[in-house]
Amino acid sequence: MPYDLIIANGTVVSPDGTTQADVAIHGERIAAVAPGLAAKANGARVVDATGKYVIPGGLDVHVHLELPFCGTVSSDDWRTGTRAAARGGVTTVIDFAIPYGEQSLDDAYHAWLERAKPKACVDYAFHMAITNWDRHGPEMPAMVARGCPTFKEFMIYAVEGWQSDDRAIYNALESCKKLGGMLLVHAESSRVLDELIARHHTPELMKKYGAQLHAMTRPNFIEAEAIQRAVMWAEVTGGRLYIVHMSTGEGADIIKAAQARGVDVLAETCVQYLVMDDSVFARPDGHLFACCPQLKKPKDMERLWKGLDSGEVCVISTDTCTFTKEQKDRWEGDWTKIPMGLPGLETLLPLVYTKGVLGGRMTVEKFVEKCCANPAKIMGLYPQKGVLAAGSDADIVVFDRKTTIKVDHATMEGGADWNPFQGWDLAGFAEHTFSRGKQIVKDYKCIAEDGWGKWLPRSLR
Ligand SMILES: [Zn+2]
Repeated sequence: MPYDLIIANGTVVSPDGTTQADVAIHGERIAAVAPGLAAKANGARVVDATGKYVIPGGLDVHVHLELPFCGTVSSDDWRTGTRAAARGGVTTVIDFAIPYGEQSLDDAYHAWLERAKPKACVDYAFHMAITNWDRHGPEMPAMVARGCPTFKEFMIYAVEGWQSDDRAIYNALESCKKLGGMLLVHAESSRVLDELIARHHTPELMKKYGAQLHAMTRPNFIEAEAIQRAVMWAEVTGGRLYIVHMSTGEGADIIKAAQARGVDVLAETCVQYLVMDDSVFARPDGHLFACCPQLKKPKDMERLWKGLDSGEVCVISTDTCTFTKEQKDRWEGDWTKIPMGLPGLETLLPLVYTKGVLGGRMTVEKFVEKCCANPAKIMGLYPQKGVLAAGSDADIVVFDRKTTIKVDHATMEGGADWNPFQGWDLAGFAEHTFSRGKQIVKDYKCIAEDGWGKWLPRSLR
């Protein structure tokens, strides 16, 4: 087979090890991974990766682009969001298609596709959010057949009209078992959370504590109780459960114990919960850092890193949901009015690489496992994505082991005029990113064209 492109002399990383090899691409796919391929290039373009890591493009399986939320719309759209992804070395994103009002899952799918298609520069897929069990439950078989086998239910957000009760979660897990689907759950204990918010929602406390009330009203048991309950429904139905954005050490303990007794449950965390704690809320600009769930304590960060190592935490995502300063500033001292979410796609891999691998907390193999291979496997995209092997999509990232870039929102692709990691020196930004063989980042600059990304049908069977 003639090659179009060869990435030569790099250190190719997989969860099983690293090897010195060339990666040869024909069309949109990887044709071969072996040493010495560049020697018979035969006119193929050769990109020298000597001394660099060559990894499969990352997957961020938890993002929200141009999401109507908290009375506004998140400021990273499918263009800025996926360009940020590309520059950060992420070549696949999975968003959540959410039906509003009387909409069906089919309506939500088409609404999301219409927004993504003209703008996305990396490949994408959707989890389908069930916001009304009686309307959406019967649509699940058609969604699985279409290639959307992952569903989402929120245990909070009654005001948004998104909340699922225990009946909805129990039923959805039962259907997932039957259909070969998986249920993703946002686990927070709604009634007690509302009570704690109501108790603290006074002018005196808001004046005294400001954005710190966001953390004060969400103690760890708010997440732990909800995870425990969702795990129970998974255990009795046998349906596969995936806890999204797990932020507490208690959550990790519950998942580990459930897995040990054979419950089909998985958990992701988001990178912000690994690298930042809730002391940020005391800063003058602390309200900018409000996301949901909120940042926790250093002991939770430690427990989540440990969980990544021992396995009960299997994926690192971002929950990207970007808001500008102006949007965040609408809170006017009332923490319940802060649009919740952080930018993240551009810094996911750099943060995990810098704090994890260079920080001595994980190997580079584990980094590829948690950010590339596992998310692809768990979300039904493997071996099309998440691995450098003959036949896989040529989604490839080349990055230098040591070169650091100072995070500065002003020079980033993402749609925010601030960044939670502003001023941090991070290694692991993509020097070159390829999406299905097409170069979309060159010398750290995004050169992607709008609409290159394709929607990906998936199957968990
Ligand atoms: Zn989310």
